[in-house]
Amino acid sequence: MLAEWQAVLARLRDQVGEHSFNAWIEPIECVAEDGGFRLEVGSTFLRDWISRRLLGEIRAAFAGVVGVEPPLRIMVVERSDAPPVAPVRESPRQQPVRKPAVSPGRPVRIGRLLDHYTFDRFVVGPSNELAYRAACAVADGTARGFNPLFVWGGVGLGKTHLINALAHRFLQARKRGAIAFLSAEEFMNQMITALRQDKMRPFRERFRELDLLIVDDVEFLAGKERMQAEFFHTFDALFAAGKQVVLTSDKPPQAIADLTQRLRSRFEGGLNVDVRPPSAEMRLEIVRRKALDRGIDLDEQVLRLVVEHSGANVRELEGALTRILAWRDLTGQALDHDAVANLLEANSRPLRRVTAGQILDAVSRYFQVGVEDLRAHGRERAISEARQIAMYLLRSIGEMPYAAIGDLLGGRDHSTVIYAVRVAEGRRSKDARFDVTVAALERAVREIACREAA
Ligand code: ADP
Ligand code: MG
Repeated sequence: MLAEWQAVLARLRDQVGEHSFNAWIEPIECVAEDGGFRLEVGSTFLRDWISRRLLGEIRAAFAGVVGVEPPLRIMVVERSDAPPVAPVRESPRQQPVRKPAVSPGRPVRIGRLLDHYTFDRFVVGPSNELAYRAACAVADGTARGFNPLFVWGGVGLGKTHLINALAHRFLQARKRGAIAFLSAEEFMNQMITALRQDKMRPFRERFRELDLLIVDDVEFLAGKERMQAEFFHTFDALFAAGKQVVLTSDKPPQAIADLTQRLRSRFEGGLNVDVRPPSAEMRLEIVRRKALDRGIDLDEQVLRLVVEHSGANVRELEGALTRILAWRDLTGQALDHDAVANLLEANSRPLRRVTAGQILDAVSRYFQVGVEDLRAHGRERAISEARQIAMYLLRSIGEMPYAAIGDLLGGRDHSTVIYAVRVAEGRRSKDARFDVTVAALERAVREIACREAA
């Protein structure tokens, strides 16, 4: 490794925090070129993310190490341990550099963990204690016969949070552990890309090198035979090698429709645990912690209101919390009992299924841009933002698959959609104005849906 890069890494590790460092910085390879440096990453997703979020910090770290800011560029290079993506050429003249098939010593990471979903932010109570204990045991490697660990339960009950926490803890103890963390849908997308590019072998090899495979929302496998077959073989290879598999689903294995018998029996063969809706007491504690996470110590009365006005789904609790905090930030008024009660009541309309057309319609009206503009590939700022929000809403309240959203919006790649949705999610929790805009749109879409249903 280049000495300069080593020094840059040391600085960055302190600056960006360990999780970001592991997720984004560590996979970079740095090569000297023309008096500057070339940063090589394994996917366009990584490249875009790093360019947007971290390049400034990387530049600053280089400046600190070598005295001046050297020329830097970042490019995608195909590697055996990276998702199978086509190398992207930055300009027609630069040929992508091919790496040797194996890069020794580099831990395999497939997918991405969410930093803030850790065990210390997970409220444990009677409804999820078993799942929690099982997840801890798997992370600590003290589990026997918990393979796979299959966690199931309704939406918004903490499954994704729990398995993220498991993965973080697993990696704390095994810094160089090879893990994959992805949804069944992402697994399928990667598989399809590999199939298209005739790269099934590297795809399989990558997954079979893992110490821990975590797949979220496996109910998505229902009825998809090709994918089930591929998944079965991956699973079996890991299982035979004594490697751990962790799965989540919104229903128990027996209830997943159109699942091949052999896969079903694998799913049933380990430990199945469910997560149930949290008790009122737990919900209170969850809201209290979520508010504290955002730096606000809400009083008991307000906490109770939030809990009373939301269903059992923890996501609803968070939505209510976000709304009242945004309101407070925007109006500067205190969150007293009456204000909060008013605010929450206005929002507790029944939910209805919304269509893609209704979402595009609402976004187009709100931003005063044509639906064709949302589909087109223009990069004008106002339209890009409208498009990003449209993608987010199509996913969150439209519940559409990423690939379908990409198709709907001008044939964009699913990874572009995943990225846009994640950025929007991140912005919602940090940018009160953005959150209020999106909340207003959610309401508008639901109103359109109610009107049309009437
Ligand atoms: P699921 O995957 O089951 O649909 P998530 O893990 O996405 O649910 O949880 C939805 C939201 O609720 C997340 O923000 C998560 O942090 C929060 N949440 C759910 N259960 C808990 C819990 N027991 N403690 C803290 N937060 C929770
Ligand atoms: Mg989930």
